[in-house]
This record gives sequence, structure tokens and C-alpha cells, in this order.
Amino acid sequence: MAIIFDDSKSMDAYLRKSDAHPESFLSLCRRQSSGLQLVSDDMEQDRKEQEEMAKLREKSFERKCKLLYDNLELVMRHREEILANPRYANIDAHYAIKGGGCYVGPISTSMRYDFAGSSLIINLSMGSLLELWNTDQFKVECGCGVTAVIRSFSGSPLSGVSVASAYCPHCKKAIHGIRNRSFGGYMGLLRTKLDEITEKAVNSGLRGDGLACSLETMINELKLKEFAEV
Ligand SMILES: [Zn+2]
Repeated sequence: MAIIFDDSKSMDAYLRKSDAHPESFLSLCRRQSSGLQLVSDDMEQDRKEQEEMAKLREKSFERKCKLLYDNLELVMRHREEILANPRYANIDAHYAIKGGGCYVGPISTSMRYDFAGSSLIINLSMGSLLELWNTDQFKVECGCGVTAVIRSFSGSPLSGVSVASAYCPHCKKAIHGIRNRSFGGYMGLLRTKLDEITEKAVNSGLRGDGLACSLETMINELKLKEFAEV
């Protein structure tokens, strides 16, 4: 292990960069000559892997979001059934609604709690999403006569102004520029739903219900069911 001095900067400046090099110069020399790094190759490898997994998760959520909206008419036909079945109602659907605002940044449809080295992630669920879409705040009439649902919104918590986009499950068209509702209305309802899910999880003693199901499975099961009924 060789110690390489950077000749492009004066040694004075190098030693004065206390925040970039919080350790003393003597300690730096001793550490480097013993081959110890502040950020080890193992740490760097872990960081890269976490970054790749996060990218893959993001891609997966984008695909799920498209799948959900492509099959929204099917999902809406089975709304009551989904709400009544915890296996369907508890499916993660946090990727379905996007929003953000001045001062508040992107809205959160997913909350993470860390306990003793483990993470608990509370996501907006399919059931809660369907309930949100049933409120006046999160639905709008489409020209075709079918109810469209809000899928993104932005605005300001200070002025309360908002602009939202909706999606019609029937004509599969986006409706832009919905401005007749308050930004706080969106945020308040969303926050209430996430609080309800968190409370339910905590009240259950964080014991799993063993009813895990994916969006892909639910959509396939609903399609098979309709096929069998024909
Ligand atoms: Zn329509």
C-alpha cells in the first residue's frame, strides 16, 4: 500500500480540509499504511447492490402501476369483492398515486419505521386506494359518463391551490388540469388512510396474517373468475 500525495494542492490546504478529512494527518498516514479504508470495498459493494435493488424495485413499481391502470375497469367491477377480501385489500398499491407540492416535496404513500435494525414499511393498500377513489376529492366525471379517478396531483399547502390528473377506466384516457379542489383535501385524505393502515398493523401486534397476494395474482384471479362466469 503506497501513500500518494496529491501535489496539485498545497499541503497546507490539504491539512485544513477538516470536514473532508476529519482524522489527523498522522492517523491518516498510519491508517493508509495499514491498508484500512474509511469506506471499505465491502461497504462500497453493499452500497452498489442496494442501489441496483432500489432501481429494480422502482422499475417493478412502474410496471405494476401500468398493469393496475390497464386493468382498472376489471378492478372497479370487482371493487366490493376486493374491499371485502383482506388478501386483495392489503395488496401494496403505493405506486398508484403520485403527488407533490411546494414546500412539502413529493407526497408519501409509503412510510418506513425502523425498529431495532428491522424496517416496517406501511404502504397505501389496494383497499385504501379504492376507498380514496370513492371520495369526491379523488374522483371526477369523464365525458363518457364513467367515473374517472385521480392518479396524480400537485399544489401548494399555503395557497391550497391544486392541479390534478385523472384516468378513466373505461376510455383509458387521461384527464388533465383538474383545479376545482384543495391541495389540503388530497393530503388530508391520503394521510388519514396511511394512519389507519399503520394503526391496524400496530393493533394487530405486527403479526402477519399470512394472506400475502400480489397485484399480478389478483388481476389474474379476477380474469379467471370472469372467464368461468361466461
Ligand atoms: Zn371515459
